[in-house]
Amino acid sequence: MLRVAEPFIDQDEKDAVADAMARAALSGHMQDYIVRFERGFAAYCGVEHGIGTNNGTTSIHLALAALGIGPGDEVLVSTYTNMATFFAVLYLGATPVPIDCEPETWNMNPALLERALTPHSRAIMPVHIFGHPVDMDSVLEIARARNLFVVEDAAQAHGAEYKGRKVGGLSDAASFSFYSNKVITTGEGGMVVTGNADVAERCRAYRNLCYGRENRFMHEDVGFNYRLSNLHAAVGWAQVNKIDANVAKKRQIAGWYRERLKHRPELLLPVERPWARSVYWMYHIVLSPDCRIDRARIMAYLAEAGIETRPGFVPFNMQKIAIERGLAAAADCPVANGLADRAFYVPSGVGLTEDQVDMVASALLKALGRPI
Ligand SMILES: *Cc1c(COP(=O)(O)O)cnc(C)c1O
Repeated sequence: MLRVAEPFIDQDEKDAVADAMARAALSGHMQDYIVRFERGFAAYCGVEHGIGTNNGTTSIHLALAALGIGPGDEVLVSTYTNMATFFAVLYLGATPVPIDCEPETWNMNPALLERALTPHSRAIMPVHIFGHPVDMDSVLEIARARNLFVVEDAAQAHGAEYKGRKVGGLSDAASFSFYSNKVITTGEGGMVVTGNADVAERCRAYRNLCYGRENRFMHEDVGFNYRLSNLHAAVGWAQVNKIDANVAKKRQIAGWYRERLKHRPELLLPVERPWARSVYWMYHIVLSPDCRIDRARIMAYLAEAGIETRPGFVPFNMQKIAIERGLAAAADCPVANGLADRAFYVPSGVGLTEDQVDMVASALLKALGRPI
């Protein structure tokens, strides 16, 4: 089976882990690879502070907690995303407000923000979906006018650029994931990056149970244990050096797919805005509304040919748990709902060869060509 993603690991990661092992440097209190990974990755994003966590979900939770988001606050979130983005808001007792996406980039549509604002709005959380950066100036302009925080969920976008600047450094705080299918990986891991020293300090405290500064065991608040282990950080430290190569490969893969699929009007392929450098985390394809072959059929055909695919995300406004709790209505976000029905992504791992892309593209074209 050709998988949608495979982590890329070589001798660098093995050496770093072996080094940490040999010194029994397993946990974060020894500093070590954690600090090197945090500094290296934050510097890559062009910001001063990085706070490593045990996954990308906890890093979103941590960033929002550090900004003081809590009950009664509303956070405007891109509806078409991994539900981890929404769950982090719910963990804090705050209210997520789903925002529909742009039809071509599939990112939060900034034109819809104004009408979703209320006196309770506290933050906006754009997601750089599939590695294409959000139109951040439009988001930031609205946030500044209303004094709202902006938190980027950059879990899919390590190395993506908006107007020449790396994502992660474009807002009050950003969250990354290093799960094994992301642009770089630690197996499980995450990081908050921020240019704000106060936010960074609060993230460090909340990550580590808010231990007391004078009396260690007189805790300063109800903290979390979201620490990253030093072994995972050793992997991450070695992976930072691979971001640019992984991004270059993903861009090449996207080019190979585009070349082979662009002549089919029933396929809406990923776009790249002139101000954007996308990392094409996954090659995400949308069937046009007039495509006569349905998605399930195409995905089944590809599976038979040994090709793994995944359907598009189910947006927050279509999640049963959101509708039952009165947090959203299915009809709220029509653009995202279309993606939920008609989108899927194809193998996009950095180990893919042009021949393999050829094989996927041919199978897809064949699936489209079959009579109903
Ligand atoms: C993967 C992902 C997450 C969650 O990260 P984990 O490390 O799996 O917890 C959050 N948001 C988005 C957009 C993601 O793609």
